[in-house]
Amino acid sequence: MRFSGLRVLKEGLTGNKGWRPHWRDPAPKPEYDLVIIGGGGHGLSTAYYLARDHGLTNVAVLERGYIGGGNIGRNTTIVRANYFLQGNSEFYSHSLKLWEGLEEDLNYNVMHSQRGILNLFHSDGQRDAAARRGNMMLSQGDDAILLGREELRAKVPFLNFDDQRFPLYGALYHPRGGTARHDAVAWGYARGADSRGVDLIQNCEVTGIDVDNGRVTGVQTVRGPIRAKKVAMVAAGRSSQVAAMAGMRLPIESHILQAFVTEGLKPVIDHVITFGMGHFYISQSDKGGLVFGGDLDFYASYAARGNLPTVEHVMEAGMALMPMIGKARVLRSWGGIMDMSPDGSPIIDRTHIDGLYVNCGWNYGGFKAVPASGNVFAHLLATDQYHPAATRFRLDRFRTGRGILDEEGTGSQHNLH
Ligand SMILES: Cc1cc2nc3c(=O)[nH]c(=O)nc-3n(C[C@H](O)[C@H](O)[C@H](O)COP(=O)(O)OP(=O)(O)OC[C@H]3O[C@@H](n4cnc5c(N)ncnc54)[C@H](O)[C@@H]3O)c2cc1C
Repeated sequence: MRFSGLRVLKEGLTGNKGWRPHWRDPAPKPEYDLVIIGGGGHGLSTAYYLARDHGLTNVAVLERGYIGGGNIGRNTTIVRANYFLQGNSEFYSHSLKLWEGLEEDLNYNVMHSQRGILNLFHSDGQRDAAARRGNMMLSQGDDAILLGREELRAKVPFLNFDDQRFPLYGALYHPRGGTARHDAVAWGYARGADSRGVDLIQNCEVTGIDVDNGRVTGVQTVRGPIRAKKVAMVAAGRSSQVAAMAGMRLPIESHILQAFVTEGLKPVIDHVITFGMGHFYISQSDKGGLVFGGDLDFYASYAARGNLPTVEHVMEAGMALMPMIGKARVLRSWGGIMDMSPDGSPIIDRTHIDGLYVNCGWNYGGFKAVPASGNVFAHLLATDQYHPAATRFRLDRFRTGRGILDEEGTGSQHNLH
């Protein structure tokens, strides 16, 4: 089933009777070449690129809930390539390029909107840091523009420029950054993988990983055992639990991150705005809701909901930055389970068990990584070689202590990034 303007018009005029389900609902087969544990953004994009780029279609994605029910459908949808260090920078550049061709590639409207991201700064020192980051972004082929206070005011006049504690000095502007509709990304990849023959099996929790003589042989699920030559663990916030089924202890802690959306308002915010000092970021959805979030809840948990002190903190930060937000009514809030790695960078690697692979450590920024993560992980699974854009996301970096401390440059402590 291909989507086109003509098709939408025809269906609109004929009662929308011609649409078919986006993917099949197959029963699990007893054996696959490759089983992916986790039907979130990363598991689905991995399946898609395995089929598209490597012709591997005897593949199953096993999802304990429903497609789009995890973090892929819970994030604040920010897409960017503004990293500083090698390791991350080439990977996120690769991801942004894939985003830019994604809708044509998937024949699916993921509502990718390059509305630009404004990272605010509040002092001369922060301006220097922003300039350094901008130069690094330019040198790796991405885009960045340093805006002064008045240039920033011209774009977002409604911000509080003279806050006593955090006066606005300007922003690092990343024009190719923006947003995409999160669950449409899951649906688009799911549809693309399914149409190439991958089995997407929902309500199929994996309860065990079978290992024989140092080699993976399959998985146990609530719908029975499934044999597999290779198994890929792509379970985001539940990665530690899944890896424990193979006797592994990952350097991952699971923490809650909350998000909020207001009632629909007339268009007011044209960009994504991030207020790092208040740990607050905001954009406006196509339906008009202000979508915003803040920091982690700062305790490890598997509950997909958060606590009130964090809600209060986020609201305070929002009010400090843009007092007009106080008039809006919050419609909903929710939480997701973040797979926090010690250095804030992901893990995409083999494990010490033959045929068992891991993809995790997405922290609070794994949505924008979905295209590249699937693309490079499929490469690793199919060829057993690291993709050139992802050579440093190795599990053994935690043994040597040589992490990729990028996101905020705050050190290898989960509670600082
Ligand atoms: C509030 C919030 C805001 C965020 N904002 C952003 C943002 O603006 N930009 C950005 O880039 N990132 C953001 N993120 C992070 C991003 O959403 C995640 O890093 C990313 O979605 C994680 O990868 P995933 O999509 O594969 O995860 P998920 O969708 O969680 O997929 C993992 C899947 O594994 C399944 N699973 C777990 N255990 C098992 C099992 N035993 N058997 C079978 N299946 C299993 C789960 O049910 C789940 O569906 C945010 C996250 C949250 C929660």
